[in-house]
Amino acid sequence: MILMMKREADKTAVNRVEKQLEQMGCRSVTIRSSEGVIISVTGGNRSECLQDLALLPEIERVIDVTVPYKLASREIKKEKSMLDLQDGVSIGGKEVIVMAGPCAVESEKMLFTIAEQVARAGARVLRGGAFKPRTSPYSFQGLEEKGLKILAEAGKRTGLKIVTEVISPQDVELVACYADILQVGARNMQNYSLLRKLGKQQKPVLLKRGFSATIEEWLMSAEYILAEGNFNVILCERGIRTFETYTRNTLDISAVPLVKNLSHLPVIVDPSHSSGDSRLVPALSRAAIASGADGLLIEVHPHPEEAFCDGNQSLNPREFQLLMNDLADFTRACERTLNTDNLSAKNFVKAI
Ligand code: PEP
Ligand code: MN
Repeated sequence: MILMMKREADKTAVNRVEKQLEQMGCRSVTIRSSEGVIISVTGGNRSECLQDLALLPEIERVIDVTVPYKLASREIKKEKSMLDLQDGVSIGGKEVIVMAGPCAVESEKMLFTIAEQVARAGARVLRGGAFKPRTSPYSFQGLEEKGLKILAEAGKRTGLKIVTEVISPQDVELVACYADILQVGARNMQNYSLLRKLGKQQKPVLLKRGFSATIEEWLMSAEYILAEGNFNVILCERGIRTFETYTRNTLDISAVPLVKNLSHLPVIVDPSHSSGDSRLVPALSRAAIASGADGLLIEVHPHPEEAFCDGNQSLNPREFQLLMNDLADFTRACERTLNTDNLSAKNFVKAI
C-alpha cells in the first residue's frame, strides 16, 4: 500500500501517520521525493488499514498497489514520467532520444572526434565508459577519472549530455560530478548497495536489464533507486541470454511495450549489446522505435576495427549518419520526432 501525503503535510504530520501505522501493526518506509512525501506500507490487515488511513486529514491518497515494484508501477502514477535532462532535452516524451558514442573512452582525440560526429548526426547524449566492467580482468578497464574529464569536456564542446557507467557505490559522487546520466550496467543490475547509493542523489540513472533478469527483477532494481527518493530512472533493454549463439544476446523486444504498460518510467533500447553485430543495429533500432521505445543507446567508434572493446557491434560515423537519416523518416511514420528534424538541411544530407 502507498500513502501519498498532502503537499502541506509537515514533519509532525508525517510522524503522526508513522505512529498510527505502527499501532496498526504495519511496517512503513517514508520516502521524500520530487513527487512529495510518500509512505510505503507493508504488513497489517490491508482492508482495515485502507479504511482507517483514508480518514486521516494529512493523507492525499491511499493506493492499494498490487505489484511488488510499487513506486515504479503505473498503479501509483498513471501518466508517463518525463525526465528533464536540462537545456531543452527530456526523455519520455514525443522525441526519441539517441545516445551514441564508443564503448569506452580510449583517448581525448578519439572522443572529441566522435562526439562532434554524433552531435552533427542528431544524437542528444554522448555515451562512453570511463569505468569498464569487463568479463576478463586482463581486458581494458577504462581511463577512470581522466576518462570522465574527457567526457565532460566533449559535452561542453558539443552541447551533448553525458551518460557513463558507475560500477561501485564509492564512485557515485565522483561520476555524478562529470556526468548527466549515471549508467548501471547489466552486470550490476542487482548490486543493491550501488542502487541505494544512486537513489540518494538526484541525477538520472540509466538502469540496464541484467543478462538473465526477469522483468519483475529489473523493475524491483528500479524500485531500490526510487525507494531512496530518486524518481529519475530510465530503463534500458540491452538483450538477454538465450540458447541462441549467432547473436551476442537476444533483444527482448516485447519487454518494451510490456514494461511501458507496467511502469511509468521511460524505456530505451541498446541495439548494440543486444546483437553484438553492427549489421543488425539499424533493423533493431527501427524495431525499438516501432515498439514504443523512448530512446536508443548505440555504440559508434571512429574506427571500429581498432576499438579497445566491442568493435564488432560499433557503427562507424558514416554508418551512424546513414542510420539517423533513415530513422528520421521512420520516427515520423511512428508519430515520434528525432533531433534530426531540427538540424539544418546542410548537415543532414552531408554524409561524414
Ligand atoms: C556498455 O554499455 O558499454 C555495457 C558494458 O553494457 P552492458 O552493461 O549492457 O553489458
Ligand atoms: Mn560496450
